[in-house]
Amino acid sequence: MDQRHTGKCFCGAVEIEVRGEPVAQGYCHCESCRSWSAGPVNAFTLWKPDSVAITKGASSIGVFHKTEKSHRKFCKICGGHLMTDHPLWSVVDVYAATIPSLAFAPKLHVNYGDTVLHLRDGLPKFQDMPKEMGGSGTMAAE
Ligand SMILES: [Zn+2]
Ligand SMILES: [Zn+2]
Repeated sequence: MDQRHTGKCFCGAVEIEVRGEPVAQGYCHCESCRSWSAGPVNAFTLWKPDSVAITKGASSIGVFHKTEKSHRKFCKICGGHLMTDHPLWSVVDVYAATIPSLAFAPKLHVNYGDTVLHLRDGLPKFQDMPKEMGGSGTMAAE
């Protein structure tokens, strides 16, 4: 796969590139995503770390990690959000909104038990996380 998508922060100081195909796409409704993004839901695309490259402005990237699960990366100039490293799962969440040329194709919702925005799209909805990502695997109603 040689598909490439480029993205940038709100001010354009930081640019990134993703290559190939994401390993998963969906929506996260958890309180952490909502609090950090100031939005009701996070549209995520997960990539292998070596599929994601910083192509400009690496020195302007700030990182905040409240827990070891999620290293959240943002532009120190504009505050625009870029991606979250999930080192325990060896994936990087590049927010769907950061790479607009990717045809976002969500397959599931996670942490739907925390939702503040019900999305009746017929996709599977996990109360917390799928079992293979350390969750209960319990499904939630739409
Ligand atoms: Zn910026
Ligand atoms: Zn979340």
